[in-house]
Amino acid sequence: MAWTEESVEILKAMWLEGRSAREIGERLGMTRNAVIGKANRLGLSHKSKSTPARPVIAADIKNRAMSPLDLNERMCRWPIGHPGDADFHFCGRARVPGRPYCEEHCAVAYRGKAVEAAA
Ligand SMILES: [Zn+2]
Repeated sequence: MAWTEESVEILKAMWLEGRSAREIGERLGMTRNAVIGKANRLGLSHKSKSTPARPVIAADIKNRAMSPLDLNERMCRWPIGHPGDADFHFCGRARVPGRPYCEEHCAVAYRGKAVEAAA
């Protein structure tokens, strides 16, 4: 079956609603692969669970960016960016108890030493 203007419109509308390619295919009498292929050619990104969440996560990280004044004793002091830059901040996530950094940054900070000790 060829794509008509109408079926492309339905594909776009359903795709943006977050319907699955299988659902759209059933509606249009297409295979799932045909729907996905067409959507890719139309430049539609797949509305999976993770896609709509991404901008929210990015905004969240921006809001959580800490200036040194916002840091408290339970926050990771890992510097992000270069001191003096407008976007310089500290990580600010929860520290590993007894360490100045969060889990992720402890892994970075202490990796060198661990390698040395193992060598
Ligand atoms: Zn950190």
